[in-house]
Amino acid sequence: MSKFWSPFVKALVPYVPGEQPKIERLIKLNTNENPYGPSPKAIAAMQAQINDDLRLYPDPNCDQLKHAVADYYSVGPQYVFVGNGSDEVLAHAFHGLFQHDKPLLFPDISYSFYPVYCGLYGIEQKPVALDDDFQICVADYQQPNGGIIFPNPNAPTGCLLELDKIEQVLQANPDSVVLVDEAYIDFGGESAISLVKKYDNLLVTQTLSKSRSLAGLRVGIAVGHPDLIEGLERIKNSFNSYPLDRAAIAGAAAAFADADYFHSTRNKVIASREWVIEALIALGFEVLPSAANFVFARHSERDGAELAAELREQGVLVRHFKQPRIDQFLRISIGTEEQNQALIDALQRCI
Ligand code: PMP
Repeated sequence: MSKFWSPFVKALVPYVPGEQPKIERLIKLNTNENPYGPSPKAIAAMQAQINDDLRLYPDPNCDQLKHAVADYYSVGPQYVFVGNGSDEVLAHAFHGLFQHDKPLLFPDISYSFYPVYCGLYGIEQKPVALDDDFQICVADYQQPNGGIIFPNPNAPTGCLLELDKIEQVLQANPDSVVLVDEAYIDFGGESAISLVKKYDNLLVTQTLSKSRSLAGLRVGIAVGHPDLIEGLERIKNSFNSYPLDRAAIAGAAAAFADADYFHSTRNKVIASREWVIEALIALGFEVLPSAANFVFARHSERDGAELAAELREQGVLVRHFKQPRIDQFLRISIGTEEQNQALIDALQRCI
């Protein structure tokens, strides 16, 4: 702590990201990255930018990417906002779209960045308990004039909320912004983007870090009513009017356009997830139903923290959260078939 810190900074409790180990031989199943590389067309598009145009500023409006997203989801580009990873898009939404003097509701087990943004922007938080099966209970989300946010599928549980339930939340809260954080939606859910023309209080965020395998590029998007998007643009232009560099704009646009590659890698991850779930159950784990590129599992006899530590000793990195109710669980990202086999072999030796 420095004497130069403001009282505000002294009170901040920042988010701790998952480990990015320096030891290369570790099998990294701890931060839900995609085990397959990005689309070769995305790589070629980025390379072309690097070869030709880095001398120039990027388009501050990122039109090429907005149009690629708009085409993919059949909305107008005025429905689309883009930023430096969905974490940044979320930060702008917290800053600009949630009422700071009204509570923000979110599941008590969900993305741990939400309470951090509440602290950063002075938003009152109201965590809402998940039910006994770790599911979101939509009847508990009633907040006139405030805000609501939840990941779908939820993280770190992986559990999916069906679209009709999301509509129930939207209809019950017409005067609150409802933000659906779809970081993992492509691995088994239906996007709520299909509802943005019907509900002017809905904002959907997504990331290119997971299903499009571009975590290193830092690109996230938001789709919602043009008035919500304009609010985000105002925040962005008061913060960093060039949120994405030229390679990121071109690479992300090309990744959205390459539907074939996207489908083939996404389907491989989904098939592997089902294999991993069966193998974990055979080893005595309870596994929550997952619509994501990770699974959330606890063993009937072994302690979660100990298992995570033992796996690390065997070269496999998974995520463990020291948090009430979920401290017996491991969150395990789906890897290549080889990595998944190595995980199961390592667990067999632990158990
Ligand atoms: N939302 C959720 C639920 C996440 O798990 C993550 C990844 N940590 C993000 C948003 C942020 O993803 P990114 O900033 O890489 O786009």
